[in-house]
Amino acid sequence: MSRVLVVEDEAHLAQGLRFNLEAEGYSAEIAEDGETATDRLLAKKENFDAIVLDIMLPGKDGFSVVEELRAARNYVPVLVLTARGRPEDVLKGFAAGADDYLAKPFDLSILLARLQGLLRRSEWMRSAHAPEHSSASANGLQSPNTGDFATFSFDGKTIDFGKLELRANDTVVHLTLMESELLRHLIRNDGRVVSRKQILEEVWGLHEDTDTRAIDNFIVRLRRYIESDPAEPRHLLTARGVGYRFLANPETR
Ligand code: CA
Repeated sequence: MSRVLVVEDEAHLAQGLRFNLEAEGYSAEIAEDGETATDRLLAKKENFDAIVLDIMLPGKDGFSVVEELRAARNYVPVLVLTARGRPEDVLKGFAAGADDYLAKPFDLSILLARLQGLLRRSEWMRSAHAPEHSSASANGLQSPNTGDFATFSFDGKTIDFGKLELRANDTVVHLTLMESELLRHLIRNDGRVVSRKQILEEVWGLHEDTDTRAIDNFIVRLRRYIESDPAEPRHLLTARGVGYRFLANPETR
């Protein structure tokens, strides 16, 4: 049973969420503020499979919570709840390390679908990494998209999609779930331009008019991880006005 922590200060909404999550077969718990959330997740090291995190909280806000989690190398999938009409919150949330977002007020069925998407991805990643695995579908789990490579190497770097790690020489960089998914999507399309809209739809499963700058934000971070000179990228190229293109072997093109 997946365990979900709902971080939400509006008691009515929090209890409604818990009730509905439990009805869907999740185990759900509530933290009423950011301080309680970081205390349970970091100080007490409680394990949750996903966090539903409101941004507007009394005291420590949702941005700080997700930032603290990532700084402490806690990569639990985080779905943030933003106020409608504040697209800058989406960008800020992604920059802080959130994996997905939903604008308030939201439709309960959409929240459940998003949460399920995050859990399915992280479960798939874990199963792809499990030592006994031969293919991810062997235990009934499908890759969120097509193709289910568990590792990928290029230019002296290896990405382990199961561990959410990028290794280069002696350094190991930990990727968030969505950083890893974006990278995998671009790699799967090696050599082809992928539009920002495609990325939003195929990686995040977002169909509404999301500010595509969220993607650019992720690209900047990925370049820092994979490029020797992020200002002069060789692998993760910009297709001006369209999107991005990954090249594993830039020399051969
Ligand atoms: Ca709130």
